Amino acid sequence: MFIDSHAHLTSHDVLPQIDAILSRAAASQVQKIVNICTDETTLREGIALKKRFPFVYNAAAATPHDVEKIGEQFFPLVSKAAESGDLIAIGETGLDYHYEHSNRAVQQEHLLRYFELAKLTQLPIIFHCREAFDDLFALADQHYANRPAVLHCFTGNEEEAKGVIARGWYLSVSGIATFKKSEALREAIAIAPLDKLLTETDTPYLAPQSKRGKPNEPSYMVETVQMLGNLFGKSLEEMAKITSTNAEQFFSFSKRS
Ligand SMILES: [Zn+2]
Repeated sequence: MFIDSHAHLTSHDVLPQIDAILSRAAASQVQKIVNICTDETTLREGIALKKRFPFVYNAAAATPHDVEKIGEQFFPLVSKAAESGDLIAIGETGLDYHYEHSNRAVQQEHLLRYFELAKLTQLPIIFHCREAFDDLFALADQHYANRPAVLHCFTGNEEEAKGVIARGWYLSVSGIATFKKSEALREAIAIAPLDKLLTETDTPYLAPQSKRGKPNEPSYMVETVQMLGNLFGKSLEEMAKITSTNAEQFFSFSKRS
């Protein structure tokens, strides 16, 4: 079986087709999906979705892109959901200096708040990080040392992969790693220990090579797991087992819901 560690199921362009998408996921043996809620609406829809589909689990935070716009209003709702047991993780939070849609200082300030919330609620963190690894590592070392986290959609270099692994974090691999031109990324991923690998779709973004240009969905994740299997010399079944065991370990699904 497969576990999609990161999908935006309640984003407005995915939700209208959710029944069909989730039945294709089930048909492809994707048995658990972590839905990433990024604002008030997607969080409310996520909590409702879980009632209909218990194999959907919710995580929430304002993304680093949006913290300037909605971070302030959204934080209390994330706190409430986390404290009342509606969340399996805090995220995606982190730093994005590539787009820098929000001011860097504001991104950092919200990241620190999410560190505190994760510690308080004993939930793991899902990080989004783009061109900001030095600052993410420095802030985490200071405020979130020896705590559980996953670097979602890892697209960094080998040095950055080492930094993630050195901190005991998981590294989540998306469809980007299946692209033909992603040779360097695959080399960076190859240094990760097998027990630190997760896989994700980031639905509806980043469809894998054979589906490029289409809206992504959890059933497409099989291709990414296959690529990882090739990279590590494992069969698809072995790689599926390894990555889903890791996801169980990281998210503790049964303990938290
Ligand atoms: Zn995402």
